[in-house]
Amino acid sequence: MNRRHFLSSAGASLLAADADTRWDRPMRWSQLTLVENDPGQFDVAFWLDYFRRIKSDAACLSAGGIVAYYPTKVPLHHRSQWLDRHAGGDPFGDLLRGCKKMGMVVIARTDPHAIHEDAARAHPEWIAVDESGRPRRHGSDPSLWITCALGSYNFEFMTEVHREIASLYEADGIFTNRWAGSGMCYCASCARVFRAESGLDLPRTNDPLDPARRQHILWRDKRLFELWRLWDGEIGKTRPGSRYIANAGGGALSSLDMVTIGQLAPTLFADRQARRGLATPWEAGKNAKEYRATMGTKAIGGIFSVGVEEPYRWKDSVQSDAEIRIWVADAAANGLRPWFTKFSGTLYDRRWLKTVEEIYTRHARWEKYLRNTAPVANVAVVYSQQTSTYYGAGRARQKVEDHTLGWYQALVEARIPFELVHDRLLDGAGRFTTLILPNIACLSDAQCAQLRDYVRKGGNLIATFETSLYDEWGARRGNFGLAELFGVDYGGRIEGPMRNAYLTLHHETRHAVLKGLEEAPRIIHAANRILVKPVAGFAVKPVTLIPSYPDLPMEMVYPREPRTDIAELYLSQRQGGRVAYFPNDLDRTFWEVLSPDHALLLRNTVDWAAGSDRPVYVDGPGVVDVTLWRQNTSMTVHLVNLTNPMFMKGPYRELVPLPPQRVRVKLPDGAKPRRVHLLAADRTPAGINFSAGWLSCTVPTVGDHEIVAIDL
Ligand SMILES: [Zn+2]
Repeated sequence: MNRRHFLSSAGASLLAADADTRWDRPMRWSQLTLVENDPGQFDVAFWLDYFRRIKSDAACLSAGGIVAYYPTKVPLHHRSQWLDRHAGGDPFGDLLRGCKKMGMVVIARTDPHAIHEDAARAHPEWIAVDESGRPRRHGSDPSLWITCALGSYNFEFMTEVHREIASLYEADGIFTNRWAGSGMCYCASCARVFRAESGLDLPRTNDPLDPARRQHILWRDKRLFELWRLWDGEIGKTRPGSRYIANAGGGALSSLDMVTIGQLAPTLFADRQARRGLATPWEAGKNAKEYRATMGTKAIGGIFSVGVEEPYRWKDSVQSDAEIRIWVADAAANGLRPWFTKFSGTLYDRRWLKTVEEIYTRHARWEKYLRNTAPVANVAVVYSQQTSTYYGAGRARQKVEDHTLGWYQALVEARIPFELVHDRLLDGAGRFTTLILPNIACLSDAQCAQLRDYVRKGGNLIATFETSLYDEWGARRGNFGLAELFGVDYGGRIEGPMRNAYLTLHHETRHAVLKGLEEAPRIIHAANRILVKPVAGFAVKPVTLIPSYPDLPMEMVYPREPRTDIAELYLSQRQGGRVAYFPNDLDRTFWEVLSPDHALLLRNTVDWAAGSDRPVYVDGPGVVDVTLWRQNTSMTVHLVNLTNPMFMKGPYRELVPLPPQRVRVKLPDGAKPRRVHLLAADRTPAGINFSAGWLSCTVPTVGDHEIVAIDL
């Protein structure tokens, strides 16, 4: 088990059965979202020429919904007031036909989240209603009304719109933005249909343990997937082969079930357009891993904006060249196909055009090496929507996501390639030697059994904090569901936040988890710890607790208990694979504090658990996101240079060249390198050496993104 790498066999066939070649073909998407006054004012020929010049092979074009950009005949479907100003009166059709002539795949965009006054008067039942019973006006444009996503507006009116578009135009699909509603709706239709389904009134609380709220979470999911199937069916009936493409999905914080999305969607695009708040550029790549966990080998794309998104959404702005580049590079290195989105066909600031052209034409030159068949990684991090929904509730970002972000950052810093796994697809986890569960609090009995089985078969497992202490509905168990694997029972409470507490590092154990920390007798503790009672024997305890002691007044700052034998990391190998359990939130604390000591402890724990060679080593200074891929007749190592003073928030001013890196990669059994090439530098790397199945070479520098391409 420990030596098994995720190469072509198992991974490549994962969910590949219904991969559709129509969606696999396009590699570079363009999205032009028209604004109402574009017709007659924007230059269709310019855009078509731009798509051609940048070697874009697919487009998403505005068709209808809030505003129709074609001569619709559906009553109350609001035509752009300027539609007739466009010669021929059909700007959507002109763009679509121009793209089709160039052989591009084209999807039509609709947006059903708001309606105009005339539609609202004719159909008040289309409007979403707030908790106090008031119809909801649009927050950004008060002349519009917010629609109810779960009633007749979407199910009847938008179905009619989608049928009309599919019948009139040769679109490969229809892509719908903001189709899943704008928060909780209390309209009469929602109340009636929910009551018929559940026997309950609409919930007035967000507590997921409330029966009505829980039923509503499930009902909303079911209703939206009914809508998805309805639209997909009607579009396909009207134009055979054409599909519904939802703008949906994400990771643990996403509300729609990613497993169902993985089954329904022929392709999927991550709509994380730019940084917001504290957002590292690896967030673009994280989306790729989240999507791949349920989409398998189906084509996935990453939507990037060329403007500044946070926090006031300047939709006509332009980011720096370096920021656009690094965002797209990390997405591409993780398997997302680039999709630029531009709002308004009339340009106010043209600086981004050259950047996207350079990114896209380079991508086209590299295309052969970007048609991946499988990622190569031994390690995977589990994500859990049920934990986020039922345990995280209103605080899922802090209680759930921050644990994952801590691991993500630690693995990027450690340069360990990894994947993400959805907690409801654990059956497929056997292809990884090591699974990390970052406070995956909610696990069903069946999921716990899957994880025990995984370890019994030799899989290694790392878990933190309250992992498995709750069932799949967020109800607390008396003990960890995985107590047997951890070797500890739940001790009844959580202590924290703990100020001024530490971890003693027992170097006399010479344990691998302490590597690189030899000079440190102790390091800082996590913010919170969970009390546990060991039930199994632990041969070594390399990390133990120094309890909190006062941090003020200064005279009182001395440890009351300088040493205990209370382990803060439980390591065992009793039932097959290795198990490491942190009875604390060290991963979340790492994301909060970013202590380099915690980075090392997390890295070492992964290396100890994985127990064998990593599939690739990249040595040198800097922060580099390393990914490893197989293609049909080649293998690639991606190095994305995140090293930048702006790294932790992302507003890059310039790319800072990376110092030389030594790359050492294990080739598939029996394979020999026929040619090794650096795609960005367009040269052969220095110091190529091949022995005992390992290829080494030196990458002299990286701007944003370098790919070591190895033909096999
Ligand atoms: Zn409603």
